[in-house]
Amino acid sequence: MQSLTHWIDGQPQAARNGGWLPVHAPATTLPHAQVADGDAADVAAAIDAAARAAPAWAALRHSERAAWLERLAAALESRLDDFADAESRDGGKPIRLAREVEIPRAVANLRFFAQAASQSASESHHGEAGLNYTLRQPLGVVATISPWNLPLYLFTWKIAPALAAGNTVVAKPSEITPLTATMLVELAAGIGFPPGVLNLVHGTGPRVGEPLVTDSRVRAISFTGSTRVGQRIAELAAPQLKKVSLELGGKNPTLVFADSDWRGQLDTLVRSAFQNSGQICLCGSRLLIERSIYEAFRDAFVARAAALRVGDPADPSADLGPLVSQAHHDKVVACIARARAEGGRFLLGGGDSPRGGWFVEPTLIEGLGPDSASNLEEIFGPGATLQPFDDDEHALALANAGDYGLAAMVWTRDLGRAHRLAARLRAGIVWINTWLMRDLRTPFGGMGQSGLGREGGLEAMRFFTEARNVCIDLR
Ligand code: NAD
Repeated sequence: MQSLTHWIDGQPQAARNGGWLPVHAPATTLPHAQVADGDAADVAAAIDAAARAAPAWAALRHSERAAWLERLAAALESRLDDFADAESRDGGKPIRLAREVEIPRAVANLRFFAQAASQSASESHHGEAGLNYTLRQPLGVVATISPWNLPLYLFTWKIAPALAAGNTVVAKPSEITPLTATMLVELAAGIGFPPGVLNLVHGTGPRVGEPLVTDSRVRAISFTGSTRVGQRIAELAAPQLKKVSLELGGKNPTLVFADSDWRGQLDTLVRSAFQNSGQICLCGSRLLIERSIYEAFRDAFVARAAALRVGDPADPSADLGPLVSQAHHDKVVACIARARAEGGRFLLGGGDSPRGGWFVEPTLIEGLGPDSASNLEEIFGPGATLQPFDDDEHALALANAGDYGLAAMVWTRDLGRAHRLAARLRAGIVWINTWLMRDLRTPFGGMGQSGLGREGGLEAMRFFTEARNVCIDLR
C-alpha cells in the first residue's frame, strides 16, 4: 500500500507522531493508501521551513518565479495520464473527467499564474496630490487549505498565485483525497524546486488545519470547503486580523425560460446538475423552470438524466462514479430521505444505486417549495429539485431564496432579461446559456454563506500581496 508523507523543506517526512490515516478508493470502499496523520508539530516544522525559504523566494525576479511554475506545469503535463488515473482512483471521479478536464485545468492554473507573475504591474496615481506608486509585496508564509471534490484543480488554484506573488506556502489538501497533491509536490522536488518554498502537511482539519490557521507566522489563509469550516477558520483567524479568502458552499439555481434553446442544450443542463455526481460547488441543484414548459422540460430532463451511466470510475464510459466517502454517502442519502419526508415527489432515483458501495443514483425531486430544507441546504451529491415559476420576478425570488450566493445559471434568448437578471441574482458567478465556462482572469467567489473575498486572476494576486502606497511630494 502506498504511503503518502508530508513534504517539508523539500523532503518527504512521516508524521512526527508516527500516525497514519487510511485513504479509501471510493469505487471499492477499500483502503488503497495511507496518509500521514499530522499534527501541530509537523505544521510548526513546515512553517519553519517556509519562513526560512521566504526571503530568497521573494527576492527572485518575477520572471524567475514564473519559470519555476512553467517548469512545474510542464512536468505535470508530461505525467497527465498518471495524475488522471490517481485522481480518479482517489476521489472516485470518472476517469474521463479527470483526464479531459481536471488535470488539464490544473496545468492551466500553473501556467496562468506563471504568466500573471511575469505580466503583473502595479498602479501609480499622480496629478492630484504628489506622485504615488503602489508596491504590491509578498506576505511571507501563507497557508492553503483545499477540499476533496476537485483535489488537484483547487490545490493548484491556490498554490499557483501564492507562489507567483512571491510567498512561500504550507498547503493542506483534504485527508480524504491526498494523492495527487502529494504527487505534485514530489514532482516539484524532483525538478529542483527550492526547498521550503512549497510544503505539504497532511492530516485532519482540527489537528493540522487549525494550528496552521492560528500560527502567527502564517499571514494569509486561502480556504475552499464547507461553510461550517469556513466560519470556524474566520473565527480562529479574526483575533490576529489575518487575511482570509473563503470559498464555501452553494445551492445554485438554474433558471430555464421558455424562450431558451433548452432542448438543444439538454446535455449541458444535465451535466450542470450531475457532473462529478453533483460534488462540484458550482453544480445547479435547484432547477427553476418557466411554468409554460414545466412538464415538457421535466420529462425530457428526467429521460436524459436517466440515461447517465453510473459505474466504475475507471471505465471511460462512466458518467457518474461513486461518492467520495462513507460519511459523505451517508449524508447525501440522509438528504434524499429528508426530501421524501418533506413530501417531495421523486421523478428519478431516490437513494442508493443497485451497485452498492458508495454509489448513489441520479435523483430528481419535485413538489418542494423554496422554504424546504431540501431547497435551502447544500446536498453536494447527485440530487436536484425542480420548481416552476411564472415570470421574471417569481424566478428571481425563488433563485435568491436561502443564504447561499455562489453561482446562478440563466437560460434564455432574451438578452435584456439576461442582463437584468444577472445584475439582481445573488451570486458571485452568473452563467448565461452556459455552465462552467471559465476565463481564469475573472473574479471567482460567492456572496452570503458562499464565501468572503474573490480569487482568480488579479484578485488572487492582490489577495496574496500587501499593497503599500508610496507618496512623494514633488513641489
Ligand atoms: P470541508 O470544509 O469539510 O474540508 C475542507 C478542508 O478543510 C479539508 O482539507 C479539511 O481537512 C479542512 N478542515 C476541516 N476542518 C477544519 C478546521 N477546523 N480547521 C481548518 N481546516 C479544516 O469541505 P469538504 O467536505 O472537503 O468539501 C466540500 C465543500 O467544499 C462543499 O461545501 C463545497 O460546496 C465546498 N466547495 C466550495 C468551492 C468554492 O469554490 N466555493 C469549491 C469546491 C468545494
